[in-house]
Parts: sequence; structure tokens; C-alpha cells
Amino acid sequence: MVKLAEWRGKEVFRRYGIPLPRGRVVRSPEEARAASESGDVPLPGVLKAQVLTGGRGKGGAVRFAATPAEVEEAARGILGMEFKGEQVRELLFEEKLAIGRELYVALTLDRSQRLPVLMVSPHGGMEIESVDASEIVRIPIHPFVGLSGYERRRALRFLGLPPGPAKSMEGILDRLWRVFLHEDAELVEINPLAVVGDSLVALDSKVIIEDDASFRHPEYAEIPDDRTALEEVAREKGIAFVQLEGNIGVIANGAGLTMATLDVLQQFGGRPGIFLDLGGTDNPAQVTEAFLLMARAHPTAVFLNVFGGVTRCDTVATGLVEAMRRVPAAERFPLVARIRGNNEAEGIRILQEAGITSLRQLEESARAVVAAAGGPAA
Ligand code: GDP
Ligand code: MN
Repeated sequence: MVKLAEWRGKEVFRRYGIPLPRGRVVRSPEEARAASESGDVPLPGVLKAQVLTGGRGKGGAVRFAATPAEVEEAARGILGMEFKGEQVRELLFEEKLAIGRELYVALTLDRSQRLPVLMVSPHGGMEIESVDASEIVRIPIHPFVGLSGYERRRALRFLGLPPGPAKSMEGILDRLWRVFLHEDAELVEINPLAVVGDSLVALDSKVIIEDDASFRHPEYAEIPDDRTALEEVAREKGIAFVQLEGNIGVIANGAGLTMATLDVLQQFGGRPGIFLDLGGTDNPAQVTEAFLLMARAHPTAVFLNVFGGVTRCDTVATGLVEAMRRVPAAERFPLVARIRGNNEAEGIRILQEAGITSLRQLEESARAVVAAAGGPAA
């Protein structure tokens, strides 16, 4: 999944002829100010953090400015902030348009219907999450036929636009469909799509490109994505590692067991947040690497839950013991281990020699980890 920052999404929109505000990317307060002074970006303007999570408007990451001095100040404010864990390094600086209504339009895949679906709502903007379902129309589209005239008209009727904006909307729907199709997107979204006088302008963009189509789009390969620094390291080492919110680290093997482990921890009031899937390996060194990586994420406690198959219990135990020897003091964490399956007895013996007990039951293990992490969440 390649998530494009707003400005990259808008570059794509531009190629397909979707109307956009004038603007450019800036990377420093001085550059922002210069862009306004040269008239490159007309004032009043909008400065927007180029981060990959939404909710910028509500989170203070979108600011307006009327003078070059204000532009510089707003840019300094946003560039200095960390937005939902992401350091802001780029801004999109655009002209501020006098907008009327804010609409919502998106194309995505409806997995249950196994079809692309067009979604439009007359109530776009920052409150889209709380818009009643009846205020959003969902129109499934046959992928071989494409977005047809009657489907476009159905969307237009739902929006109830006056003739000028309606005409503009027809063109945008057609172009957005082409973006979705030709760029192999799994999501294209414009929120808000703003009514500006007689036409419509895309004020925001959200574009996600489908990974499986990346061979058709080498142009997206270079885009830095939203991995954390440790996830990046993990990727280079070929380790499946994901960091989310939560303080308990989970090391398991196979997606199914990993997810089941998360569920059980959750059930006992734990907050799992760092996931590492050992996958299939017969190399203890790889297990050691995985543990050292986990340690760098500073989990409050770690649950090792492995079912030995291709990845034998003794391999895991050997790798684990080696890792425990090498983890720097500052990165030590309480560990609960549960290894079952192939070469279980040998694995348990190796752990025991290093003073680590392997628990037998999943539930008692989960309770022990949650306790080690400070007890169940309130
Ligand atoms: P998001 O909150 O991360 O989705 O960021 P958006 O790009 O959607 O911006 C948040 C809000 O800022 C929008 O819903 C608009 O209300 C407002 N906004 C953004 N650009 C403009 C603009 O050019 N003119 C005006 N008046 N409002 C804007
Ligand atoms: Mn938006």
C-alpha cells in the first residue's frame, strides 16, 4: 500500500485535469514567506502539514495566513510540530479560496461486494466521520463497464447541485474514475471538494495505490512511506514488524497465531502494540535479530508465543537466550514465554538453563504478561 501525501495526490489529480487551488510545496518558513512575496502563491493562503494521517484541520495542522509575516509564522508553527507521531517536514502552501459548500467524493473497493464503489455526500469537510449513513450515497460500479452516465447522474441528483457546479462535478467524477482505474488505486478521495463560485475545486486529496500493481507503476516506488524508523530497519532485515499504540510486545509466528495472541491479550486488559512475526525460520540468529529489534521499541513487557513447526522450539529458544545476553541493560524487558510444538522439550530445556520458564496455557501466559506490563487497563 502506497499512501500518497496530499501534494503527491494532487499532482496525480492535476495530470487528469481535476481542478485544484494554486500552490506549491515548501520546506521552511523562509521559503513559504518568499513564495507569498513573489506572488507565487496568492494571499490569503492556507498552509497544510504534509503528513499521512488525517484530521489535520482539527489538529491544528492546517492554518490560514493573510500576510507574508503570517505565512512565515504559520509555517514555523506547523513545521515544528509532531503530528500523531509524525514529524512534519513539508507543507503545502496554497491560495485560500472563498468556498461555499464542501462536498465529499471517493472511489474505493467494496470488498464484500467485490466491486469498486463511488461514494458521494453533500456534507463533506472535517465532520465526515459523523455524517449519517443516509447522507452518503454508495454506488457500486462494474469494473468492466466503468462509471457510466446514469451512475454519474444518480450521484449528481443526490448532491442536489445548481447547474454550474453540477456540470463541473460531472467532469470531476469522470476524471476521478480514470485516476482510480489507471493508477490502480485502492482509494481516491476528495474531502472537501469545495464549491467555488460556479465550479468545484479539490481542496484535499487522499490517494492510496494498490501494492499488487506496483510493477505497473515504478513512479511510486521511490516514495517514502509511513513506516516508523524501526519498521524501516525491520524491512531491510526481512522481519515482519509493526508498531502501533500499546505497550506490550508480541512475538509469535504466523499471522493467525499473532492475531489470536493480540486478541487474548486484549481480552485480559492488555494493550499489545508492537507485533513481530517470526515467520518460518530455522536460523537462531534471525530470532536473535528479531528480539533485539523488539527491545529497541521499548515494550513494557514481551509475550513470546510460538507454535513450533518449520520454526522449531529449540531454534527459537537458542535465538532468544542469545538475544537476552545481548540486550543492552537500558532495553531489558520482562518476558513471558510459551513455546509449544516441534522440539518442544529441547526448547524448554534451553530456556530453563537460562532461567526462563515456558508457560503451558495461553490464558495464564496472557495474564502473566498483562501483569508484568502493569496490570489490566482501567
Ligand atoms: P484534513 O483535516 O486533514 O482532511 O485536511 P483538509 O485538507 O481537508 O483541510 C481541513 C479544512 O480546512 C477543510 O475541510 C476546509 O474547511 C479548510 N480549508 C482547506 N483549504 C481551504 C481553502 O482553500 N479555503 C478555505 N476557506 N478553507 C480551506
Ligand atoms: Mn480533508
